[in-house]
Parts: sequence; structure tokens; C-alpha cells
Amino acid sequence: MAITSFAGRNAFVTGGASGIGLGIAKALAKRDAFVIIADLRPDHIGKALKAMTAEGLGESVIAMELDVTDRAAYADAARRLDDELGGVDILVNNAGVGVEGPVLEATYADWDFGLGVNLGGVVNGLQSILPQMIAHGRGGHVVNTASLAASVVMPGHLAIYAAGKAAVLNLSENMRADLAAKGIGCSVLCPGFVRSNIHEAARNRPAHLREGSGFVASEQALAKRVVGNDWMDPDLVGEMVADAIVANELYVIT
Ligand code: NAD
Repeated sequence: MAITSFAGRNAFVTGGASGIGLGIAKALAKRDAFVIIADLRPDHIGKALKAMTAEGLGESVIAMELDVTDRAAYADAARRLDDELGGVDILVNNAGVGVEGPVLEATYADWDFGLGVNLGGVVNGLQSILPQMIAHGRGGHVVNTASLAASVVMPGHLAIYAAGKAAVLNLSENMRADLAAKGIGCSVLCPGFVRSNIHEAARNRPAHLREGSGFVASEQALAKRVVGNDWMDPDLVGEMVADAIVANELYVIT
């Protein structure tokens, strides 16, 4: 069953406490979905809940702290979502990090960080949430956030980031038929330049993945340069994603 209306539907949005994820969370809540934000950062969660409450959406959202790279924690979260809320109808695998630096200078920690969150986080979402979504037999929808960098070479040293995002784009294209057979829709979001906190990536990197990495310094420098940018409004991206879910469009390109 495709999603034709959001009323009575539970939407689980990873990285939902900031930027594009928060834009998606707001758009779905405005259309009467119940939204569960999952995010690594408690400070982002606090601000997101405040922002949604200020927009009159406080009754339609709850939040949980979750690191999407932590398989055990993700499986546990999925169990709780099922037991306490009756499961997830819309899975938005959106959590992601910028990883920036010349590939020849990359450490294994840079690869682990970039692919671990940007690809591994999507894999963990599918593995944890899809089985129960299928078991409930209510249909549903999966949105994966890739990037324009998945298909074009963009300025900067984005090889590791682009590799992870290209995998997410390809995965989404290839799994769409499998999901359709179970009554579940699938979209892939490929944002261009959207206003967000993504250039804070270095702050989201666990301490053990910082060792010896020159990328961390270059990511911190980039974060300073892009402050105050006038990129696209994440709330508009959220509306585009909500429209794409109803239309079951594969590509959402901003
Ligand atoms: P953002 O930093 O504002 O939001 C990302 C959120 O993900 C943050 O709240 C962060 O705390 C959370 N997060 C990071 N690591 C996590 C983890 N391991 N587990 C759970 N949560 C985690 O950035 P954004 O720009 O809104 O990014 C959202 C998605 O959009 C990402 O996948 C990103 O790669 C993609 N994207 C963004 C742009 C852009 O221009 N902003 C362009 C292309 C793709």
C-alpha cells in the first residue's frame, strides 16, 4: 500500500534534528504523520523539539538519541518503536556526515567514518526497520538521502563522501523493485546545496576515528568558511520529500 495520506502513519527520521532531516520531520508532521526524530546529538534534538513546538507541531513529534552506526542500539530502537508505537510506516535514512580531504591522505579512520555513517547508517536502518514494516503489512515508504555528489564531481575533496553517497543512490535504485513487491515505496533524495550543519562533520566523529586524520582539521576549516551561507531552505526540501512519498517518485533532486 503506497502512502496516500500521512494521518495515522509513523515516520522515523534519522539525522532528523537538524537541516534536511528536520525539514522532512516538519513537513511530515504538518501533513499529520507522527514523527520520531533519531539523532546523535542531544543539543540538536533539544533545538529541533523547540523549533517544532514553536510551529505548533509539538504533539506530533518525539525524539530519541541514536547513533545510526551502532547496530545493537539500532536494533533495540526498532524493537521499542514496534512495541511502544506499533512500528514504522515511513523510514527516512537521512543521517549523514561530510567527509572532506584528499583521498591519498585518508586514514582508515576517515574511510570508517565516512562510509560508516553515510552508507552503514542506511544499511542499519534497512536491516532494523524493514522486517517489521513488511510484517505489519500496512505498506510504507523508504527515503534514503544520497547527494548530488553521488553522480557528479563537485568542488572540494569529496571522494569518500561521494563514494558512500553513490552507493546509497545505487542501492535505492536497485532495491525499489524488491520493496514494491511488498507494497513499500522507495525514494532517493539527492540534495544540491542546502542550508544545514553538515560542515560540523568533524564534531560528529567519534574520538577513536580522529586519530592521525588530517581530514578533521580540513573539515573544521571548511565549517568556518561556510557559516552564513545562503543555500537552499531545508524546509522546502522537506516539502519536496513529502510530495515525492505520496507520488512514489524515485528521485528527489534539489
Ligand atoms: P546536518 O548536519 O544539518 O544534519 C545531519 C544530522 O545528522 C545532524 O543532526 C547530526 O547530529 C546527525 N548525525 C550525524 N551523524 C549521525 C549518526 N552517526 N547517527 C545519528 N545521527 C547522526 O546536515 P544535513 O545537510 O541536513 O544532512 C542531511 C543529509 O543530507 C546527509 O545525509 C547529507 O549527506 C545529505 N546532504 C546534504 C547536503 C547539503 O547541502 N546540506 C547536500 C547533499 C547531501
